[in-house]
Amino acid sequence: MKNLKRSRVKTIQEIAKLNDLNKRILDSAPISIIIIDKKGVITFVNKYFRQISVEKSPLNKSIFKMPFFIREKLLPSYKKLLSEGTPFKKANCVSIDGSEYINIIAIPTKDENGRINGAISMAVDVSETVRAKLKLDELNSQLENKIAEKTRLLSEANAKLEKSLKLRSQFISDAGHELRTPLSIAKLNLEFFKKQFPTENSPSVEILDSIDREINRVADILSDITFFTSIDEESVDSMNMEKIYLNKFLEDAAGRIKSLAVKKNIKVIFKKNKSNPVINGDKIKLEKLFLNIISNSIKYGKKSGWVKIYIEPDLKNKEIKIIISDNGIGIAKKDMPRIFDRFYRTGFSRHDGEGGFGLGLAICKWIVEKHNGKIVAESTAGKGSVFTVSLPKT
Ligand code: ADP
Repeated sequence: MKNLKRSRVKTIQEIAKLNDLNKRILDSAPISIIIIDKKGVITFVNKYFRQISVEKSPLNKSIFKMPFFIREKLLPSYKKLLSEGTPFKKANCVSIDGSEYINIIAIPTKDENGRINGAISMAVDVSETVRAKLKLDELNSQLENKIAEKTRLLSEANAKLEKSLKLRSQFISDAGHELRTPLSIAKLNLEFFKKQFPTENSPSVEILDSIDREINRVADILSDITFFTSIDEESVDSMNMEKIYLNKFLEDAAGRIKSLAVKKNIKVIFKKNKSNPVINGDKIKLEKLFLNIISNSIKYGKKSGWVKIYIEPDLKNKEIKIIISDNGIGIAKKDMPRIFDRFYRTGFSRHDGEGGFGLGLAICKWIVEKHNGKIVAESTAGKGSVFTVSLPKT
């Protein structure tokens, strides 16, 4: 009997010790913990709850009457938890004074027979994370507004630019057409004048020839300018593809330009290719392309120099290369990246008075690309240049 009493006292002492340990663990946890009974009445709160809660004496109060749980619409979840044992969590609840953000997790507690007898509800303070996220959201939305505003300004500027480019194109095209007629009349008058007064050795012949050259130059420039404005308007964008036998085609092109070369005593050497290569292309556009490159080689060639044209089928890459090289003035390294840009002219051609308008190579590039080809330039200032046009083989 005495023994039984002693062992019961020991058990009570051990239970008390265990309870004390549990309480200490719950108190030292960095989260707020409450224990409620089956009716939602608070039977235990840990230290952390007391620190953060505005509720001064929460014990024996029902959570169903406490403002925080009502305002956060948590009552149905607690009811379901206490009646059916369904755990729940809810993120970003706001403390009653509005200063903290809390995530809540609640799970049921059961007696020794497995019946629900209450619940443990835990709350984690996530204020810092939520505030950081809110700040990030705010910054994001400010950034989005700024981007939207900049995009709007950019598209406005784009529309203005497009409009002014269209106007410029229209103006150049109109001016080009207007200038062509008086230019043709001037040329006709000049020829008439030359025939009427054929004074072979007179100094006026030189003057008339020089006027003729200038008229031709202006006509060439006009033709380049109107070529581009028509591409921009997309009216000559269509291609008239046909078979082109390159030996004959390039021989004709070289022949057409010979008179220009003779004046500078430049030799134009064309080497036919034995395989008689053939490509598919737009004859008129390809003629413009090769005449531009060859005439540049002559324009920027040295007196008594040479221009070589040859064809090199590249069977591995299923393309045909047409290589035009000269031993002329060459192109400075710094100019190389820009020579295919519209209106770009090197310092030399700007000053020598022989160059055009800086449109020739831009037109060449456009024509080559329209044929799905490539154009590459290599040059050494003072030594000469090599232009390689690669076109797909038929
Ligand atoms: P441009 O109408 O001035 O000749 P292009 O577009 O045909 O314009 O050529 C652009 C520039 O590239 C020229 O101004 C010239 O300085 C340079 N260039 C083109 N081809 C040659 C070449 N064969 N030798 C030296 N310079 C060249």
